[in-house]
Amino acid sequence: MANWQRLGEIGFNLPPRQTAGREEEATAECPICRGRGLVLQDGRARRCRCMDERALAVRRRAAGLTAALQRQTFSAFELRYYEPQFLEMARRTLAAAQEFVRECLEGRARRGLLFTGPVGSGKTFLACAIANALVEGACDVFFVVVPDLLEAIRSGFGRVPEGEANTRIEERARGAAVLILDDLGAHNYTDWTRNTLYSLLNHRLNHELPTVITTNLSLEELDAYLGERTISRIVQHCRVYRLLVHRDIRHLKAAQAAGVSPVAPPRGSGA
Ligand SMILES: [Zn+2]
Repeated sequence: MANWQRLGEIGFNLPPRQTAGREEEATAECPICRGRGLVLQDGRARRCRCMDERALAVRRRAAGLTAALQRQTFSAFELRYYEPQFLEMARRTLAAAQEFVRECLEGRARRGLLFTGPVGSGKTFLACAIANALVEGACDVFFVVVPDLLEAIRSGFGRVPEGEANTRIEERARGAAVLILDDLGAHNYTDWTRNTLYSLLNHRLNHELPTVITTNLSLEELDAYLGERTISRIVQHCRVYRLLVHRDIRHLKAAQAAGVSPVAPPRGSGA
């Protein structure tokens, strides 16, 4: 059984009526099978390629991957943006991310990852690359930005978009085979926020469901914001990797795209 078929087992059911409706919609445009989903090959009916593409699109939606996030893949990750003194650290982190994907696809991942580092050091990029690789490998994954998750849970209107209307975002985050929590940062932590995060991480640890976390904060800062019991859960649950850069990689890329030399832009220029 493919990993993503376990979705049903963890209480995340794709409503059959809507799924069927979307398949009809997509295959209607397919010039190969003309919407049948099947093609004749050597006298036998075979599944048309468009059906695989449709299944992939459904998994990407369930994973919370927008078009922009879908472009952040391992093949698009470039080590050349790391200054020489930080390159080995970036290599190790990349290798850990790729090994984590292998573990997940082979069903042997028990621990997740924590990526720490400053803004623009590639943490979210690597987390997206993991999500995209897992989607491609048909492993259930849910990518969510922590402030968005907390706000959605708090407001009580946290619904997973598109087709999973009956699944609350909190249940999705708890039950995903792999959860990616992006930007666990310096929010306005109330007791409710701390308890919600603790409960989520504790649940996942108890069920051996791996979580990948990105944060700008150091472990000491996280400890101060979240409290010791949550940090101890995170450290038990995740291997910690650090990414460092002197210059924000997103600024370097923007400068290159604009045809400006990326070498030594003035710091704090806002470019
Ligand atoms: Zn087709």
